[in-house]
Amino acid sequence: MLLVALVGSALGYNALRRILYEQLDRSLYRLAEIEAAGTADSRDSSVHFHEELFGAESRREVLPTRYAEVWSVDGEPVLRTANLGGQDLPLPADILGRIAESNVPEFVRFEWQGQSYRGLVYPLGLLGAQHKVHLMQIAAPTEPVDTVLSRFLRMLVLTVFSGTLLAWILGWWLAGYAVRPVMQIIGQAESLDMTGAEHRLTAAADTDEMRRLVTVLNSMLGRIDAAFDNQRRFLADAGHEIKTPLTILRGDVEVALRRDRSPEEYQAVLGQTLEDLKGVSSLAEDLITLARSDSGGLEPRPTELPVQRLLTRVADRYAGVARQAGIDLVVQGGDGLVVLGDSGLLERALNNLVDNAIKYSRGGGRVTVSANAADGCVRIAVADEGPGISGEERPRLFERFYRGETGRRAARGSGLGLAIVSAIVDVHGGSIEFDSELGRGTTVCLVLPEARERPADGGLEEPAT
Ligand code: ATP
Ligand code: MG
Repeated sequence: MLLVALVGSALGYNALRRILYEQLDRSLYRLAEIEAAGTADSRDSSVHFHEELFGAESRREVLPTRYAEVWSVDGEPVLRTANLGGQDLPLPADILGRIAESNVPEFVRFEWQGQSYRGLVYPLGLLGAQHKVHLMQIAAPTEPVDTVLSRFLRMLVLTVFSGTLLAWILGWWLAGYAVRPVMQIIGQAESLDMTGAEHRLTAAADTDEMRRLVTVLNSMLGRIDAAFDNQRRFLADAGHEIKTPLTILRGDVEVALRRDRSPEEYQAVLGQTLEDLKGVSSLAEDLITLARSDSGGLEPRPTELPVQRLLTRVADRYAGVARQAGIDLVVQGGDGLVVLGDSGLLERALNNLVDNAIKYSRGGGRVTVSANAADGCVRIAVADEGPGISGEERPRLFERFYRGETGRRAARGSGLGLAIVSAIVDVHGGSIEFDSELGRGTTVCLVLPEARERPADGGLEEPAT
């Protein structure tokens, strides 16, 4: 703003200066014309000025001060106005000769008696009895013009700087006023204690934008709170889930050690301990998988997997368990289908689904693992003829540690199976479809992206055990 004001002031000052000097020059020229006409008109040789047109310095508020002097071309003073008091006006060297030759009037500037003057040297032609070339010099002090200009300059400087100062103060205040809610929000955000229960900003936002900012930040804080709550719950549940089997294990070992036992008894206790330890280590593995999925560390290494092999492998793994449970485990379809995914993770997801299907079928019936292609996707379904899942339970099935009615009745399990399936399907960019009817059975279907090209040779690695 200061810069704009300075440039504007400079332009304005220059314009005024030009106008005032033009006016002064015009008045000098006019006066020269009048006096030249007067001297030309005089019938006799007595040349004189119209003295009433030339104000004196002492009366300059009535009439502007002007001086005039007539010179012969040789530089001889011929006539002066009375206000010169017999003194000569100073003349720049060789100007008389030059103007006498060119016959063109010329403006000059000169210093005289400590003052600045603007003058006009005007050719008069032949004059007087001698019939010599004469020149008239008209002069005016520039002081009145300079006074106006310096006053104008003072006023400009004062206006520009006081205006800038005022604008600066106002701008400062306005900016402070505008960012006050932001500062308040920053202050509150900085002092938020994330260990407490609920976190909200209460900054008094008085504009729509600020209100929106507070709302957005609060909804973000809400999501962070929910995520924190989930983590806390997860940690507490995980601790609890691990503690229960460890307590049982410890109890079994303590009881076994209370007295001497036969080798068969020790063998039985160790066998049971091994089974329990397998359960604990598989639980730990599930927890690690979920923790990795939370921190974005569940990164699939996608390859093109023949679906048929995937299904056969899962069926082979559960053939023994299914037989023991009296369940008919069947594989259908999948021929020629190829899915894009991480073999280890997808096998793990399918294992969990087949495990559920067998576990909850409670003996008898059939579990079908099938696959087909639709709309660029491969759908792998695990269907059972078990008890089915009620409508109220369905929304919670994928929650961690959630065990439904059927789950709680079955002894084995910790409620992490479907949560892991969901995390695995998520990182593959797929989805899960659920279909269940109480008393008729359940079908869980994984929808995965189909690979465009079929691999020459299978892509299954040995699954981790
Ligand atoms: P885990 O899988 O960790 O051993 P879980 O099987 O109980 O334990 P999930 O696999 O996540 O845990 O399943 C959650 C709940 O969903 C189960 O407790 C059970 O109530 C219900 N459920 C899952 N699959 C079926 C199914 N095929 N038939 C009936 N209920 C099922
Ligand atoms: Mg399960």
